[in-house]
Amino acid sequence: MSYHTGKTYLDTPIEYLKGVGPKRAELLRAEADIHTFGDLITYYPFRYIDRSRFHKIQEVTADMPYVQIRGKISHIQLHGRHRTTRMTARLSDKTGRMELVWFRGIQWLKDQFKPGVEYIVFGKPSPFGDGFSIAHPEVEPVTPGAINQGSQMQPVYPSTEKLKSRGLDSRGIGKLLKTLIPTAKKHISESLPERVIKSLSLLPKSEALVHVHFPEDVLKLKKARARLKFEELFYIQLNLLRQKLLRNERATGYVFPDIGDHFNGFYHQRLTFSLTGAQKRVLKEIRGDTLSGRQMNRLLQGDVGSGKTVVAVMSMLMALDNGFQASLMAPTEILAFQHYESVRAMLDSLGIRVGLLTGSTKAAERKTILRELEAGELHILIGTHALIEDVVRFKKLGMVVIDEQHRFGVAQRARLWKKSAALPHVLVMTATPIPRTLAMTLYGDLDVSVIDELPPGRKPIKTVHQYDRNRLKVFGFMREQIRKGRQIYIVYPLIKESEKLDLKDLQDGYDSIVREFPPPEYAVSIVHGKMKPADKDYEMQRFVDGQTHIMVATTVIEVGIDVPNASVMVIESAERFGLSQLHQLRGRVGRGADQSYCILMSKDELSADARKRLSVMVSSNDGFAIAETDLQLRGPGDLQGTQQSGILDLKIADLTEDEPILKYARDQARQLLKMDPELTDRAHAVVRRRLQELYPDKLFWGRIS
Ligand code: ADP
Ligand code: MG
Repeated sequence: MSYHTGKTYLDTPIEYLKGVGPKRAELLRAEADIHTFGDLITYYPFRYIDRSRFHKIQEVTADMPYVQIRGKISHIQLHGRHRTTRMTARLSDKTGRMELVWFRGIQWLKDQFKPGVEYIVFGKPSPFGDGFSIAHPEVEPVTPGAINQGSQMQPVYPSTEKLKSRGLDSRGIGKLLKTLIPTAKKHISESLPERVIKSLSLLPKSEALVHVHFPEDVLKLKKARARLKFEELFYIQLNLLRQKLLRNERATGYVFPDIGDHFNGFYHQRLTFSLTGAQKRVLKEIRGDTLSGRQMNRLLQGDVGSGKTVVAVMSMLMALDNGFQASLMAPTEILAFQHYESVRAMLDSLGIRVGLLTGSTKAAERKTILRELEAGELHILIGTHALIEDVVRFKKLGMVVIDEQHRFGVAQRARLWKKSAALPHVLVMTATPIPRTLAMTLYGDLDVSVIDELPPGRKPIKTVHQYDRNRLKVFGFMREQIRKGRQIYIVYPLIKESEKLDLKDLQDGYDSIVREFPPPEYAVSIVHGKMKPADKDYEMQRFVDGQTHIMVATTVIEVGIDVPNASVMVIESAERFGLSQLHQLRGRVGRGADQSYCILMSKDELSADARKRLSVMVSSNDGFAIAETDLQLRGPGDLQGTQQSGILDLKIADLTEDEPILKYARDQARQLLKMDPELTDRAHAVVRRRLQELYPDKLFWGRIS
């Protein structure tokens, strides 16, 4: 990252900093992405040690999220066959002792602690024996200088084993910054417009950077961090809003003036229920978009079962009524097929022709579909990724609906948009509720609609948590439900890192279920991602058709499958799933008229986080509330569907706690663009320059998509 387009002091390669040199520079580049002086300055501390607050070992309790203790370290021991698997040590102060334990970096760590020296130890305590233990604590020697040096707040920098082995632990990095900052300070130029800084009383950039590394006091630190967080979020929002603006300017959209026979016919003849208020509101928003003359880019969020499909169908009918075709894209073949079946059932009698195109569509059929599509004889095409192949050409594509968007990248979306002369309207639907802060950051360039109301008469799913040892009771319950004619899902975790073990668990689970529910009285299906697609579809279909009572599966069934008769969801090793995923899985039941159940199975010993997740699931059915808790527990980087998104590589802002700052940032970005959409005003030159630095390749993104 550089600060200016021309080379400046801050662009100086890091190896020229006193105390660095080629070897350390190599490591800093590889391990910490620090290439220049400027990069080092924005290598922020992730925590500060408050030198004024320490715990006594005696005071430690199990529910403390972290403790900071001053004490001596002794009794260092290496364990394991080659004395490399684990290292333990004893930490003691005047009031007692506790254990410290490490599983990694032992070779380096084992020689680090000197007898008799006092250390500051920071970490999360967990019960151990009749005392406590801290795994992988941060350890700092108490150096007399550090402790009495003006500030109480000492920065802690992220480091890695390799960096540490060259002396670049937190303290080592701090030293480099002490060398750099005094000289670099005068080279740091302001990167926010004067007006914004004034109106929000933000610290100037150079001051903020000094205080984020060497805070004078707690208040200064807070202001420094707020300023840097604001700037980070401001530029993200500015970029997103500007993309949206550019797109709105350039991307004229088709206008659908008419509401005609298709829409009305469906509404009056085919719709067997009345729409919820939320569904009506969203349809109005979509109608507004299709009258605006601009291309719609709308994200529709709605919890599982909230009735997004009917909104999708009616949106497509708006296109049909105006002589356009429409398309619906799903992430898997099964889902595409289900959509196809249900949409056809809804629309067949209205003389609307619906086609299905997936990877397994036979060549002859594919040929017919493609021909009819180009001739305009096929009105709606439903399918998977196969829809974005170049050979798929519509006569007049007016509306694209993408279901479960997080499975598709933006690039794929862009390809679909290119399929017609002008840009079709795009409706992206997701059942993974996204907390507001995330939505604003990930989808800030889209308009957002929310279905926040379930259709009436839904019985809330009853969720219980059961320990593995009560399995027999659960089997009994399952038998009873099957006797009532219901079907059951049993889901096993499948985590990439332990895939083999997990598959074995699944197979063992399946075997024991078949023993417990033997044929011919019972039939059990099994589905997992490692099966051939054809076998998978076959097994899935048997369950959908009611031929099997129990479906043993991995999370492949997570998305969208609709089997109203399935009313029990058993989730094995539920403690290993994330909250959003648990909620998503639970959403597979509760789709019919019967009371549905979700049973979360777990082992006895649970971490505090796992316990919290399970209890949130038991007490709440609200996807948005669950998503917020998930974000707090895990942080945004781990939320489903966001992993690949570079947008979330935030340096200092934190979407779980910075919602207020995010709002200011978005507001300010919006105001700025309103005043000066092209950023040509002299007072905004700094913004324009910074935006170009941050997003050099994004300037014409709007046009590509
Ligand atoms: P999702 O949002 O998860 O895709 P669906 O569109 O599959 O939800 O809808 C779930 C079920 O609710 C379907 O069986 C659908 O027919 C039904 N449904 C949708 N809207 C309503 C409504 N307004 N009143 C009653 N039932 C509805
Ligand atoms: Mg759906």
